[in-house]
Amino acid sequence: MTAYDPENIFAKILRGEIPSARVYEDEHTLAFMDIMPRADGHLLVIPKTPCRNVLDASPEQLAAVMQTVQKLGKAVLKAFSADGVTLQQFNEAAGGQEVFHLHFHILPRHEGDKLRPPGIMAERDVIEAHAAQIREAVATL
Ligand code: AMP
Repeated sequence: MTAYDPENIFAKILRGEIPSARVYEDEHTLAFMDIMPRADGHLLVIPKTPCRNVLDASPEQLAAVMQTVQKLGKAVLKAFSADGVTLQQFNEAAGGQEVFHLHFHILPRHEGDKLRPPGIMAERDVIEAHAAQIREAVATL
């Protein structure tokens, strides 16, 4: 498998070199809003340490990320009064992965809704408003 590239966009977000709407972090993980949300509240959870995806992640990285995924899954359910949550995760280009730092997508879902098409950038103030809703829900879990 190709080596981890420390210049990938999520590594730059981790280092604070490019902006992101952060909603949660702990010692091992960071969560921030997806800039092309396929549902309101679409966010991403990443480990703070390098790995490309599930295929090269350590058990510790996977455990830390999944604990944060569970916490934020509950938070978005509450923040958006959602009926369910979809998780997405892609491995290598052939598996649909575009950014090569392990990440899980968390998508709040409502009965009967459809995901928006990929690749549509959201307005910054809309993303910030959704991030604020999620931060508030995390604080009151
Ligand atoms: P994938 O690797 O297929 O899971 O796709 C990468 C995801 O990262 C897509 O949903 C993009 O919208 C998202 N994305 C790309 N650049 C950024 C960024 N700077 N901030 C937040 N999300 C991003």
